[in-house]
Amino acid sequence: MNSAILANFAYIVAAVLFIYGLKELGSPATARRGNIISSVGMLIAIVVTLAAQGIIDFRWIAIGMLIGGIIGVLAARLVAMTAMPEMVALFNGFGGLASLLVGWAALYGSSVSEFTIVTIVLSVLIGGVTFTGSMIAWAKLNERITGKPIMFPGQSIVNALLMAAILVCAVLFAYEPANVNFLYAIIVMSFIFGVMFVIPIGGGDMPVVISLLNSYSGLAACAAGFAIDNLLLIVAGALVGAAGIILTGIMCKAMNRSLGNVLFSGFGSATASGGGETGEVKPISAEDAYYILEAASSVLVVPGYGMAVAQAQHVLKELQGLLEKNDCEVVYGVHPVAGRMPGHMNVLLAEADVSYDALLEMDEVNQKMETYDVAIVVGANDVVNPSAREDESSAIYGMPIINVDYAQTVFVLKRSMAAGFAGLQNPLFFKPNTRMLFGDAKESIGAVVREFSG
Ligand code: NDP
Repeated sequence: MNSAILANFAYIVAAVLFIYGLKELGSPATARRGNIISSVGMLIAIVVTLAAQGIIDFRWIAIGMLIGGIIGVLAARLVAMTAMPEMVALFNGFGGLASLLVGWAALYGSSVSEFTIVTIVLSVLIGGVTFTGSMIAWAKLNERITGKPIMFPGQSIVNALLMAAILVCAVLFAYEPANVNFLYAIIVMSFIFGVMFVIPIGGGDMPVVISLLNSYSGLAACAAGFAIDNLLLIVAGALVGAAGIILTGIMCKAMNRSLGNVLFSGFGSATASGGGETGEVKPISAEDAYYILEAASSVLVVPGYGMAVAQAQHVLKELQGLLEKNDCEVVYGVHPVAGRMPGHMNVLLAEADVSYDALLEMDEVNQKMETYDVAIVVGANDVVNPSAREDESSAIYGMPIINVDYAQTVFVLKRSMAAGFAGLQNPLFFKPNTRMLFGDAKESIGAVVREFSG
């Protein structure tokens, strides 16, 4: 068997591992295994590509892998869970930049056909947009630049002119590939376009944008795969492209918003204080909360972004243990867009060793809501806002929510009456069966735990 056939066979094995790994990533119970399986696929891909090409000095590869590996391990260990979307933004950005460089390098390959030129332009263009777009997304999330949408008069005209100029340069480059200046112009303009694409979008919508850019980084890799005629890069790029766009769709659906609304409405600025709902708010002390919980036989916990901020998951698990000892059933209702990234709550709860069996989906808990004695809302706001169900004029009207207000009693754990991500007031806080346990969620739950222990 010659080496090309062997390499292709290994590529098929790697592709199968990628697909199987992706499937396993679909559930928290198997996600870790999925990650390892996909990594093994990638290792096979790298080793086989290097061995089959036989054109690369392994010392440089080893140095690159070592430096990249150290940065990766440090980043993964040091990053706070709340900063995970920022890290994914950086990964996407560098993925896009890598595809741009691969596409560019393909220009200096042995045979550069017209098709290759087209794929080079695509990988450079999409890779460039992904790179700077992701950097802006990172800067917005990191608050290095304002999270508010940045808009100026004539913005769409500038964008249209930029797009037209890119197209003209692409056509000229296709006619005259020897004139690399056209390619340089495309690179520069794609960088500018990436910035222009992301600045008008509000900081709060960055997770959706990052998921979309993740898809773009896959498309850029796919184009680069065509440019260097590498089957596995094409397959891997297509998988990332498809996974990213599916995730983007899921996030938009869970927020009941279209992708167009996310990209062009400036919604994610999230600074408004909301509808000015008034009514009686009933604060409760940790001690009173304890008395009610002690008598409860079923409790639903609904975590949200505030749980991530407070890092309350461990003490929550402790409370779960105490409640269960007291013959109370405890389940968690996880909304698909609770927190600031898909799976945010699942990851935190898994970190605290909460069993997967205790995590229920929104529809399941909604069906049984009246049967829960107490629903404890831990730093969630928008995902439990009844306006989404009741108020047609609300910005989140139509968004599926967890109907905690139908439970017998609701405890809302948050620090103040401040609005959530969507900037809206929440009528839940004024419902007759709601009690507000004000304070940092970790401290509030800790105080209830102490009451139990005492
Ligand atoms: P929200 O952002 O609506 O609300 C979080 C609440 O947590 C705030 O009201 C805040 O109130 C409270 N909080 C903050 N810090 C603490 C703390 N230390 N202790 C206790 N409470 C705290 O969160 P949700 O999870 O309910 O909703 C997520 C929102 O994010 C949705 O609107 C969703 O559309 C959006 N989104 C989600 C994405 C995802 O992928 N998950 C992606 C993009 C957007 P206070 O300041 O008073 O404490």
